Amino acid sequence: MIFDLIVVGGGPAGISCANEAKRLGLNVVLIEKNQLGGSVRYARKIENFPPFPSISGKALFKHFQKFVEKSNIFVIFEDVEEISIFGNLLQTRNKSGNNIKGKSVFIATGQVDIIPEEYSSFGDLIRKSEDILSENLANKKVVVYGGGDVAFDLALSMLDAKAKTMIVCRSEIKAKPLLLQEATERKIKILKKSTIKEIKKIKGKKVVVINESFKVKEIVCDEIFFATGKKPLFPILNLPIQIENFDHSTLQNLSKMGVFLGGDLIRGKNRNIAVAIGDGVKAAFDAKNFLKGRKNGLL
Ligand SMILES: Cc1cc2nc3c(=O)[nH]c(=O)nc-3n(C[C@H](O)[C@H](O)[C@H](O)COP(=O)(O)OP(=O)(O)OC[C@H]3O[C@@H](n4cnc5c(N)ncnc54)[C@H](O)[C@@H]3O)c2cc1C
Repeated sequence: MIFDLIVVGGGPAGISCANEAKRLGLNVVLIEKNQLGGSVRYARKIENFPPFPSISGKALFKHFQKFVEKSNIFVIFEDVEEISIFGNLLQTRNKSGNNIKGKSVFIATGQVDIIPEEYSSFGDLIRKSEDILSENLANKKVVVYGGGDVAFDLALSMLDAKAKTMIVCRSEIKAKPLLLQEATERKIKILKKSTIKEIKKIKGKKVVVINESFKVKEIVCDEIFFATGKKPLFPILNLPIQIENFDHSTLQNLSKMGVFLGGDLIRGKNRNIAVAIGDGVKAAFDAKNFLKGRKNGLL
């Protein structure tokens, strides 16, 4: 079976693309390695998505799942390890060994947490922001390391879950003013310009050694979560074009091969559900035009 369009990644971008492609009459498959709905499930409270003036990430995540069910999108749960081009065809190599072929592909695999190199030796003493859903944090003392939106969103989620939360920021606070305001109103302790020097485990507790404005301090806690940034996540791309960044000309050149990219993957720090949905819908239109052009011998 050769699909018109393979969509890799079942977050808002991938779901919207697969749905629109189906409506346009394309034979489309959506491949997701984990859960449909993507990173939306980590968000605490979404207040910038107009159809829902205020909704929890978990509730919106369920809406995305229901939407896929209702739209009857053909979904395969697989971890795509590599995408290659052979002549006019694209092929995914999946972890299970079950490969999929298509005439075009939309890659919307999002982003993944970065743990800075200097902390890699701390291994499982550190939790990633993505681990929040698997932890029961009630009554635990938790340190969140980072000063951006994800750090503040996590800290507020933890407070909702009855954890005693503290934020340690390496530099100035970069989170949106609304998040900072809520964290301040809810009396989350925030240490600015503080760097973690060491993390030790002593008698079942974690001891975080920080440098706060040249003073050394020790904080005893149960868990430490890193929210120190994210980077694009994508499978190995075995294509004639090297992707060094996601500038207009790179995306344009990829689209000439029927390869489209969108959502958080290409958006840097501007991670946004509505933008991801827009990218997905646009990719479906672009794929349709690409296939039409190829059929008419224009490509
Ligand atoms: C804590 C937090 C709070 C947020 N709050 C907001 C908010 O209030 N408002 C807002 O607009 N946005 C918010 N966001 C951002 C929002 O969640 C993202 O912008 C949106 O989910 C991006 O959609 P996407 O489809 O591009 O990527 P994602 O949602 O990340 O989906 C990517 C999907 O691809 C899958 N995948 C990855 N690699 C592979 C592979 N190799 N094979 C198969 N599948 C793969 C992943 O499992 C995932 O399901 C928040 C994000 C976080 C983390």
